[in-house]
Amino acid sequence: MWKDKEIVVPGDFLGTTEEFMLGRGVYDEEGNLYASLLGVVNISDRRVINVQPVVETPPMLAEGDVVIGRIEDIKDTVAIVSIACVKGKEKREIAASTPGVIHISNVKKGYVSELKQEFGYLDVVKARVIDIKTLRLSTEDRDLGVIKAMCMKCKGDLEKKGNVLTCERCRRVETRKISEDYGKGVI
Ligand SMILES: [Zn+2]
Repeated sequence: MWKDKEIVVPGDFLGTTEEFMLGRGVYDEEGNLYASLLGVVNISDRRVINVQPVVETPPMLAEGDVVIGRIEDIKDTVAIVSIACVKGKEKREIAASTPGVIHISNVKKGYVSELKQEFGYLDVVKARVIDIKTLRLSTEDRDLGVIKAMCMKCKGDLEKKGNVLTCERCRRVETRKISEDYGKGVI
């Protein structure tokens, strides 16, 4: 017999329709109730049994972790990051289906007027997890930000020159929130 707040996996027997009313995340097979998803058992006062899904965050990620990812999209107020690995746990693959998000207020200290001045499409970034539930990331610290980028015009590698990035091939100059580890090949 399952109790309130216990974690169950799909197919776990929860009880019978004589004991409980069918809620969410539960299915009924000939009067027997089973969990249909991974989650936490919740039994209401009126004996409705539910399984509430466990928040879908990669199990090895925690707040404060530094992650490496790629900029997949840049919108007005957020940049979307597909997370590739966690610093210090590089050998473990991440099952992150949920992308990370860098809000315009978490890019750097000081005012940011346009996200496209700070990130480019497919840039490799290093960022810190500041909210695990929404996978919100920050690049405020000096070692965080873009660590590898390519020229938007000719796809050549960009090199750090002072506070900006320049293309060796076509001489284009681009701006980014550059990590102090830019181009070092280390994370
Ligand atoms: Zn170029």
